[in-house]
Amino acid sequence: MTNHSSQSADLASLNIAIIGGGLTGLFTATLLERAFNQGQNQQPSCNPHITIFEKSRSVGRLATRYRTDSQTVGNHNKNWQWAFGAQFFTAKTAQFQQFMTLWLETGLLQPWYARVVSVTPASDDTQSPDVQSKEKWNTLQARYISTPKMTSWGRALADELTNTTIQFKTRVAPLAQYASTQIDKKTELFDETGTSLGWFDWVICTAPNGQALELMADSGFARQTDILKPKMLACYTLMLGWDDQQPLPKTLNNQATASWDVAYVSDSILDRVFIEHQKPAHDELLPSITIHARNDWSEAHVDDDIDGVKAQLLQAAQQLLNWTVDSAPSQIDCHRWRYAATIMETQNKDSNDILGILVDQQQQWIVSGDWCGQGNIESCYQMAQEAVDAIVSH
Ligand SMILES: Cc1cc2nc3c(=O)[nH]c(=O)nc-3n(C[C@H](O)[C@H](O)[C@H](O)COP(=O)(O)OP(=O)(O)OC[C@H]3O[C@@H](n4cnc5c(N)ncnc54)[C@H](O)[C@@H]3O)c2cc1C
Repeated sequence: MTNHSSQSADLASLNIAIIGGGLTGLFTATLLERAFNQGQNQQPSCNPHITIFEKSRSVGRLATRYRTDSQTVGNHNKNWQWAFGAQFFTAKTAQFQQFMTLWLETGLLQPWYARVVSVTPASDDTQSPDVQSKEKWNTLQARYISTPKMTSWGRALADELTNTTIQFKTRVAPLAQYASTQIDKKTELFDETGTSLGWFDWVICTAPNGQALELMADSGFARQTDILKPKMLACYTLMLGWDDQQPLPKTLNNQATASWDVAYVSDSILDRVFIEHQKPAHDELLPSITIHARNDWSEAHVDDDIDGVKAQLLQAAQQLLNWTVDSAPSQIDCHRWRYAATIMETQNKDSNDILGILVDQQQQWIVSGDWCGQGNIESCYQMAQEAVDAIVSH
């Protein structure tokens, strides 16, 4: 049986690797630091070191793109801005609400009381799109955004970590790629050039499940076959912008219908439209709109040429927003997300089945990520909590 002093010595030298600097990785590091700092009151030397390895130069699938209008330089460099990954998130559980409090108080996180409509594009029979008022998001079903950008919260979380090192532009190689024997349950990780990244007591993988499958392949990970249980679908995102002096398309600017912030689209390859410049603390922006295509359509076209996809999305957007030559967008961009929405294979419509994190107690490896839950930001938090509980209880 471990006595208290040897247990605290073990914890003090504990090295934890997190693969992936998306929100799951950042929440996991934050909650790990908090869990061990609380323990520190009783065990002063309890200070594990955490390293996050992120292959890109910024945080995960939260993404903001902006472009400065060269024409408005005299007008304080106005920007177009698109949150082209997650647009907003929910906080249904008390724990996640509690976790968010700090950033709600500073205004970095803000509720978004969007006015939502449903829109059906113009068809051969109808001259213009049909816009119907649907709902207004409110405190009962609050949605939140991060300001001034969707990436701001990730950056703030990263800045506030004290015992965590983040190594951007570091792609971890599949665990089995470079021969290394586990010594005393420690795992040596390598980057893609075969350079050692160090030895770790715990390895937590938070990559999307297609990438997690490759990372853990042939490693002997005890839960390998479970990784493919949820299916992740693609999403194409269209980003549109209009110049300051330009008229906006009719569906956005129709005096007959109430103004709106979010549209759910029917009878189209498009799914959702988000008006960026109407979000809280976004009113300095030039007119900017983000449109997500339907996941089933995106998945079916995931390997298509991006220019062809962009042309199809633009045509659908033109039908929906109803622009003319004068009110056509001046800024057009398109992004392909290979991993966007999560579906559990066993899921029936009424079930809330989730996989949960995958733990290999023997090797001290955890596979986690939003896809182990419902595939959204709130799931990132829940999976982070599960991973921390697994390590602390171990
Ligand atoms: C188009 C779109 C719309 C969305 N809309 C919403 C929404 O409205 N509301 C909501 O709540 N959620 C939404 N989501 C989901 C939300 O963005 C995700 O749930 C969340 O960002 C996932 O975070 P994560 O950390 O689990 O994964 P990720 O953000 O994917 O992070 C995993 C990280 O691992 C890194 N990585 C992978 N392999 C390696 C490797 N070998 N070495 C090092 N690093 C590696 C990746 O670069 C990545 O940064 C949306 C997602 C998309 C794509």
